Amino acid sequence: MVVGEFVEEIDVVVIGAGPGGYVAAIRAAQMGKSVVVVERGNVGGVCLNVGCIPSKALIHASHVYENAQHGEAMGITMDNVKVDYAKVQEWKSGIVKQLTGGVASLFKGNKIRLVSGEAFFLSENEISVYDENESHKFKFNNAIIATGSRPFELPAFKWSKRVLSSTEVLGLSELPKRMVVIGGGYIGVELGTVLAKFGTELTILEGADHILPGFEQDMTRLVERRLKKHNVKIHTKALAKGVEETENGVVVKAEVKGEEMSFEADYVLVTVGRKPNTNDIGLEAIGVKMNDRGLIEVDKQGRTSVPSIYAIGDIVPGLALAHKASYEGKVAAEAIAGHAAEVDYKCIPSVVFSDPEMSSVGISEKEAKEQGLDVVVGRFPYAANGRALSVNAGEGFAKIIADKETGVVLGAQFVGEDASNIVSEVALAIEMGATLEDIELTIHAHPTLGEVTLEAAELALGRPIHVVVK
Ligand SMILES: Cc1cc2nc3c(=O)[nH]c(=O)nc-3n(C[C@H](O)[C@H](O)[C@H](O)COP(=O)(O)OP(=O)(O)OC[C@H]3O[C@@H](n4cnc5c(N)ncnc54)[C@H](O)[C@@H]3O)c2cc1C
Repeated sequence: MVVGEFVEEIDVVVIGAGPGGYVAAIRAAQMGKSVVVVERGNVGGVCLNVGCIPSKALIHASHVYENAQHGEAMGITMDNVKVDYAKVQEWKSGIVKQLTGGVASLFKGNKIRLVSGEAFFLSENEISVYDENESHKFKFNNAIIATGSRPFELPAFKWSKRVLSSTEVLGLSELPKRMVVIGGGYIGVELGTVLAKFGTELTILEGADHILPGFEQDMTRLVERRLKKHNVKIHTKALAKGVEETENGVVVKAEVKGEEMSFEADYVLVTVGRKPNTNDIGLEAIGVKMNDRGLIEVDKQGRTSVPSIYAIGDIVPGLALAHKASYEGKVAAEAIAGHAAEVDYKCIPSVVFSDPEMSSVGISEKEAKEQGLDVVVGRFPYAANGRALSVNAGEGFAKIIADKETGVVLGAQFVGEDASNIVSEVALAIEMGATLEDIELTIHAHPTLGEVTLEAAELALGRPIHVVVK
């Protein structure tokens, strides 16, 4: 309905069509709300366009290349294995196009209107949307902010033709000969692994004492070992200080364990975190409270300090992950529709698509100790799983943590083949309050990698079949 000259009235406006925003919009429409989504870029947000999906496509392509070169143990040799990287990129872009097209059709199917342009809050019930050609005004009952994040720019490493963020590296049409990665978190390691597998000489500079600092060292050690097999140089306790751009590349200066060092490369990739997109949408003026990192403060339903406005995804505190954004999107939409939905973060898995993959859900053994919990732990090696050996992936382990008295599952970590998929079973167990015995009594198909979860649970119960308890 047009109000006055230009103002349209709707139930819910969603700002941003990433995995937070598009999921929130669909759920709000399912709840009978009229919904407008405002997006200044491409639907799908960072995740579908320049994050989760393109990175996983490139990771897969680099595995295919690696496997094609290393089948000797199985009696398979291939000569002349080549990479046409431009073609790899074309394949990757096709996947992105298919998925973003899918989101656009979901909008149509759910009668959600997509408006292109930049959103700006005029009041707690009104936004304006501008793009090059036109402007709109919407009056809303509720808004869901899902504007996501962008790569953090280090002051000494200003973005340029040679100083790249993950976005540019995902789009490189040629493989660099040498690359320095600043930041050994999951994005740096995932993209670095792709390049290293395709033959780029890679150096990782990480400030902490091991890469992937959020994960326990008995897991990250396996990833480090694999990276080193691909001749990746890993410098920990390394403080990147500056970059000099030469005609054909860069020289990166760093202090490594107290020693000044420099590294020459074609490019430097900076992956030291992300910054929330909350600074230029008019939030301060309407009184939406943010913390000192620019993250929006929300309650358990995603409601901000302005009751009509909700916020989800990378712009609120917590892990910056796509599935967390989507989960929060559903909760916010349901809360707006009057349901008693609330977030519960205790079983949000996190995954690193490294080689081998790592995943974690709930608490770790270290966290259990820090919290003084009385727990039992079962740690089962992939080497004792038939399926792992038959897919040539005997390295890794599954670890499950449960309350000692009740057996209630509290967490799990996996490092090894398909760790990304296996973790979901334990997420469900935690969500349902299941015990080790529930997992033990669940018949797992054989031979599957998922059996490592069953065996880890049996180990924690003190009655494993495929390992001997000493
Ligand atoms: C290289 C890389 C790999 C990743 N891999 C994974 C992974 O494997 N698994 C995982 O869970 N997560 C991964 N992530 C993180 C994941 O992409 C983010 O957590 C997720 O995209 C956040 O979703 P969101 O909806 O909060 O925001 P975004 O996906 O960032 O979407 C926000 C949208 O809002 C739009 N927008 C911003 N401001 C405005 C405005 N004023 N007006 C209109 N529109 C606006 C933007 O254009 C954007 O499309 C990865 C990220 C990167 C960079």
